[in-house]
Amino acid sequence: MRFNEGAGLDVSEVQDLRGSGGGIGGRIALGGGGVSLVGLVLYFLLAQFGGIDGPAATGLGDVRAGEAVDNGSLAQECRTGADANRNRDCAVVATINSIQDFWTDQFARSGQTYRKATTNFFTGGVRTACGSATSAVGPFYCPADAEVYIDLTFFDELRQRFGAGGGPFAEAYVLAHEYGHHVQNLLGTSDRVRGDSSGPRSAAVRLELQADCYAGVWANHATTTPTENGRPLITEITQEDIASALDTASRIGDDYIQRELGSGRVDESTFTHGTSAQREKWFTTGLTTGDPARCDTFGARDLG
Ligand SMILES: [Zn+2]
Repeated sequence: MRFNEGAGLDVSEVQDLRGSGGGIGGRIALGGGGVSLVGLVLYFLLAQFGGIDGPAATGLGDVRAGEAVDNGSLAQECRTGADANRNRDCAVVATINSIQDFWTDQFARSGQTYRKATTNFFTGGVRTACGSATSAVGPFYCPADAEVYIDLTFFDELRQRFGAGGGPFAEAYVLAHEYGHHVQNLLGTSDRVRGDSSGPRSAAVRLELQADCYAGVWANHATTTPTENGRPLITEITQEDIASALDTASRIGDDYIQRELGSGRVDESTFTHGTSAQREKWFTTGLTTGDPARCDTFGARDLG
């Protein structure tokens, strides 16, 4: 994946919480005692990390009383596509810009308005309107504040623990998946999960596979979505890039994780994200069609 060297980046779509040292007053006011994580809320890899299955995330010692946003260094380092081509943080910013440019256009085409979602970079732990979370849960989207949260060291873990090849486009797939959940939140699709949060044909799995499909839809359009100055922010996505996204998808399926990183026994009744094959299939469906309407995992009889 290559970024257009001359294109400008918009760091305002990101909030950098990594440098914060505690600070006075939480950035996000928590409701009374809201430290529990609702299982449905943490869509990405929740169940797979640290045996966190249910509503409670433990070990919140890293979560600070408040996080201060400091976008200073991002604003300084990440100005153009050229910066994105040589700096990973900037590549993440650029990718988020591209994803949101696409969905803004896509919503507008159907007479709807896309509301941009901020991505928060954090380390260790973070407080959100969905409760507090540690990095162990992986990247996630919180519908209650409509923001994405990611500890970027997750990308290292994908390579080291999951054995994924990684790379900028593998990372783009992860981000586009989380923004897929934002799209679902805007469209009201997320509400369909309530009470059907695990099992091979559950609404939870359908929601996850749809987010994978939406990630593929963005990837289809990534090199043709213009920025404000009219030129696409991403100039090239190679077959190798696509392969790296599919490789990542293949290592975060429920069956793969249970077999390779869990007990070794695959239990379909606990599936929350779908199998590796299903995740690859739905990303590919989005990628090859470029059409969100083809991502109807809720209507699909055969999930793959
Ligand atoms: Zn997800």
